[in-house]
Amino acid sequence: MSWQQRIDEGLAARRQADALRTRQCVEHGAGRWLIRDGQRYRNFSSNDYLGLSQHPAIVRAWQQGAEKYGAGSGGSGHVSGYTLAHQQLEEALADWLGYPRALLFISGFAANQAVIAALSKKEDRIVADRLSHASLLDAANSSPAELRRFVHNDTAHLAALLAKPINGEQLVVTEGVFSMDGDSAPLADIACATRQANGWLMVDDAHGIGVCGAEGRGSCHVQQITPDILIVTFGKGIGVSGAAVLCSASLADYLTQFARHLIYSTNMPPAQATAISASLAVIRSEEGAQRRLKLNALIAQFRAGAQAQNLQVTTSDSAIQPLIVGENSRTLHLAAQLRAHGCWVTAIRPPTVPPGTARLRITLTAAHEPEDIEQLLEILHAAC
Ligand SMILES: *Cc1c(COP(=O)(O)O)cnc(C)c1O
Repeated sequence: MSWQQRIDEGLAARRQADALRTRQCVEHGAGRWLIRDGQRYRNFSSNDYLGLSQHPAIVRAWQQGAEKYGAGSGGSGHVSGYTLAHQQLEEALADWLGYPRALLFISGFAANQAVIAALSKKEDRIVADRLSHASLLDAANSSPAELRRFVHNDTAHLAALLAKPINGEQLVVTEGVFSMDGDSAPLADIACATRQANGWLMVDDAHGIGVCGAEGRGSCHVQQITPDILIVTFGKGIGVSGAAVLCSASLADYLTQFARHLIYSTNMPPAQATAISASLAVIRSEEGAQRRLKLNALIAQFRAGAQAQNLQVTTSDSAIQPLIVGENSRTLHLAAQLRAHGCWVTAIRPPTVPPGTARLRITLTAAHEPEDIEQLLEILHAAC
C-alpha cells in the first residue's frame, strides 16, 4: 500500500463511520459565547470551567509579562529559557498543592508523556484506568513497561492486577475527574490499593484543578490524598495553557535529567507563566470561591432540569455533563439541531469514547447564566 493509499483509506473509513473529525474555525471560542461566521452561540463546549480565560486581570498579566520578558522564552529551560516568572509560578504551585516541588511543562500531553517515559523500565507494570486520557495510555503503551488497564473506577480489579507477580515497580495511573464522563475516581481507595502493592500513584487532575475543593486545590485535596505524582494542567479551569508535575524534590531532580519533553523543547513563554500565576491568585481568592459556587449552582440547575424531562443524565456532578446518545449519526444530528437553535455542543464519538457511546459532551462554566441553562434544556426537550 502506498502512502497515498493509506491516507485515502484512513479517511474513507472515518467518513463511512460518521467519525471524520474536522475543526471549526471560530472568531471566539472560550467564555459564555462562541462566535462563528459572525453568529453568536451559547458555548457549552469549552473547558474554561471558571470562565477565567476572559478574566481582565489575567489577560493584563499576560500583556505585562510580554512587555517585561518579550514574546517568547528564547530556549529550553535547561539553556536560558527558565525565568523568574517560571520559578515563581513553580514555587506558588508547590506551596498551594502541598508538594516539595513543581515542574512546568508546555502541555498536559507533554507532561504525561515525559513522566511515564522517564520513569518506566522493561520489568515494570503500569496499571491504568481504562478510560484514562490518550496522553497517559499512549505513553504507557509506547513505554517499555507492561500496560494493564483496570475497569473504570473498579478498585477490586485494580488490586487484582497489582497482585500479579512482578519483578519491577508498579505505577498506578488515573484521573481526578474523567474528561468524557465527568465522574470522579475513588482516589482514597485507589491510593490504599496502590500502597498495599508498594506501587506509586500518578493522578492527572486536568479537570479538577481550580474547579473543586477548598481554594480550588482539586480532586486529591477533596479526597484527602497526596499521590506520588500529581499532574495539573492550565488549559481548563485555570483558563490559560500548560501543565505542571507536582512531586518530591528527588523526582523533580530526576525529571530534570531524564524528561525529554522538558530538555529538548522551548520553555513556555514567561508571559504565559505570569498569566497562570495571576489565574492562581484569582482561584485562591474569594472571587475564585464565588465562581466555584456559581458553577455548582448551574450544574445543579442543569441536572434537576434534565432529570425533570427524563433525559439520561449520568452520575457526574462536575462541570462535564455528558448525554450519552449511542449512535454517531444520531449524536451528530442532535448537535446540529442544538446549533441551529443557538447552542454550541460538541458531539464526541469513538475512538475518543468507547464504541456505541457517542455523546453530547455538555460543559458548564461559571461564565454561563441561569438563562443559558434554561435555553439549553428547552432545546434539548424539543430535540430529544
Ligand atoms: C486535556 C487533558 C490533558 C492534556 O492537557 P493539555 O494541557 O491540553 O495538553 C491531559 N490529561 C487529561 C486528563 C486531560 O483531560
